[in-house]
Amino acid sequence: MEILNTIRDVENYINGKFEKNNHLRLDVLSPIDGTKISSLPLSKSREIDAAVNAAKQAFHKWSSITLKERVQVFFKYRRLLEKNIDELSKLVQLENGKTYGEAKAEVEKAIELCEFAVSMPQIIVNEVQEVSKGVECKVERKPLGVVASINPFNFPNMVPHWSMPNALVLGNTMIMKPSELVPLSAVRMGELLKEAGLPDGVFNIVNGGKEVVEAICDHPDIKAVSFVGSTKVAKIVYKRATSNLKRCVALGGAKNHLLVLPDANPQMTASNVVASMSGCAGQRCMAASVMVGVDNIQHIIDKMVEDAKKLVPGDTLGSVISSEAKKRIEEYITQAENDGAKIILDGRNITVKGKEGGYYVGPTIIDHVTPEMSVAKEEIFGPVISIIRAKDLDEAIEIENGSNYGNAAAVFTRSGGLAKQVIQRASAGMIGVNIGVPVPREPFSFGGWNESKFGVCDITGRGSIEFWTQNKKTTTKWNPEAQTNWMS
Ligand code: NAD
Repeated sequence: MEILNTIRDVENYINGKFEKNNHLRLDVLSPIDGTKISSLPLSKSREIDAAVNAAKQAFHKWSSITLKERVQVFFKYRRLLEKNIDELSKLVQLENGKTYGEAKAEVEKAIELCEFAVSMPQIIVNEVQEVSKGVECKVERKPLGVVASINPFNFPNMVPHWSMPNALVLGNTMIMKPSELVPLSAVRMGELLKEAGLPDGVFNIVNGGKEVVEAICDHPDIKAVSFVGSTKVAKIVYKRATSNLKRCVALGGAKNHLLVLPDANPQMTASNVVASMSGCAGQRCMAASVMVGVDNIQHIIDKMVEDAKKLVPGDTLGSVISSEAKKRIEEYITQAENDGAKIILDGRNITVKGKEGGYYVGPTIIDHVTPEMSVAKEEIFGPVISIIRAKDLDEAIEIENGSNYGNAAAVFTRSGGLAKQVIQRASAGMIGVNIGVPVPREPFSFGGWNESKFGVCDITGRGSIEFWTQNKKTTTKWNPEAQTNWMS
């Protein structure tokens, strides 16, 4: 890929400079073909200390300028994302393995997230009221201070933009920790923010693994942490950050159920379900993972198999992230087979000509899965869908409600009444009606329920304003000569 010429080893970005350290380095492999494309330092708590110091120094000035001034940087940054979209998309493709189209869609979403951030001055208008004669109460939103954002591998460009633009526009300064599997997109974020005029120290990047995350959770001067990743780690981070008295929102894994009713439009449903389970090789927290087919939906399953067979690994279907991920996904399929389910489309043991070192799993459809099987309960995070047959809608909703997760759920039907029942009774934060990936667009906020999210606020949209700010309440008396009582 031509972009390889511009890639170098990754360093931490602290106070506006990329800094080398002498720590052990981890190789970064492209999942497309398994070749080494970069390396990153496995940083320690002292790099977090340095980044926090830089962010603390920068906070006073950055938080003192007006919101309208801060958004000017993000108007420029948004334009830079647009100008560089081809390069940024290729970078995502190279480090994550998704297709170019999927990578570009991710950067487009990052642009939309910036559009929400620059609209903050139109949204945040502080409240003032004369609460008794001559006495005014005013509520203002103020930033928290130094905050942190911890990120997963599956959206190297978009997910960091869930937190970074809003947190910074609202006056905070930030330490970002990218996934050690995909650290390259964040490097360009730092460079482009600098080009857009962001003052040094406002945005810092510290690379590494678990040790960096623990140092973030423990640092007394970090006021809030946003985390996106697996439920296992979300629980660790949420507990550790909040026990250190920080605000935390921690988004975890998912097991999204799509309920398909027999009256659903067959072609539209089949294409939507297949796109949802296979997009980004199934490595989306909004991907369809279980399809609950109500009554007789065999004609829809037949069309799904037809559609899924058209996907070409290494071309229209990207790779999964690592050889471990490929192994894990294939083990789940084998386990389902051993448990008595029927593999009606099998994506195991795929190699792509010319990319033999890459990590590919073909689209996989498993029928006659039962709710207690591991493929029905656990997050697989690959292009695999498990079909559970239900006799009626009540049983289908019960199956959905039985999941520990609760990111998304969807229903496919032509009946408004039945769709409404699912909307009301599904136990998930984001619901789709005839849509397989029901991601709320800005200004609606993103966030699931149950073990898919820990913490009070959502991570994007209006929910994030609450998360990244605190209210200052000022009471002012404009007529000091007036009689004094408890209300004045
Ligand atoms: P992950 O939990 O393995 O890693 C996320 C981050 O945590 C990384 O930066 C990693 O370095 C760090 N980390 C890993 N193990 C750690 C440990 N033991 N202690 C402290 N830090 C640790 O997640 P991933 O594999 O990078 O991403 C995929 C997961 O993210 C899936 O479960 C997916 O559903 C989830 N995800 C959820 C959402 C959502 O909105 N709910 C969005 C994207 C991804």
